[in-house]
Formats: sequence, structure tokens, C-alpha cells
Amino acid sequence: MKTKLSISIDQSTANQVRKIASKANKSTSETIQELIHLGCANGWETEPEKIRRCTHELIRTNLGNCLNEYTCNICNYTYTLDSSD
Ligand SMILES: [Zn+2]
Repeated sequence: MKTKLSISIDQSTANQVRKIASKANKSTSETIQELIHLGCANGWETEPEKIRRCTHELIRTNLGNCLNEYTCNICNYTYTLDSSD
């Protein structure tokens, strides 16, 4: 039985998720759950639509060195960015 996902993601995010899922050998739904935490921006080929559309002020948390975590509580996503790259 397949679990129906309750969150909605746009097409480009869905493609991104599928790509990441196949790379990580994980199921799409598992990956989506992780990807509400969107992961590290340094690994993105393109910026997810969700983030491109977001006009809110992001909450930045420094995770140490050049690694920062950005969160939008309105769009409900989190990603990390390593600015040392
Ligand atoms: Zn937002």
C-alpha cells in the first residue's frame, strides 16, 4: 500500500526529489520527508522552485564554520549552505 503524501510540492521540486531519491537509493516518500529539510544547497543543480518563489525573510542559523542553515517557516523548508565552496 502506498502512503499518500500530505504535503504538496511543485513539479520541479518533485523532479529534484526523484533525482535525490535515486542517487541515495531511497524511496521518494522517504526522501520527501527528509527534504522538507531540503538538504544542502551546494548539491543543487538548480534552485528548487519553492525557494525561488519564497520572498520571506529566512531564518539563518550558523552550524559552524561556513555552514549555515536557512529556514522559511512560512513555506516550511530548511536547507543548508556551505559558503566555503
Ligand atoms: Zn517563504
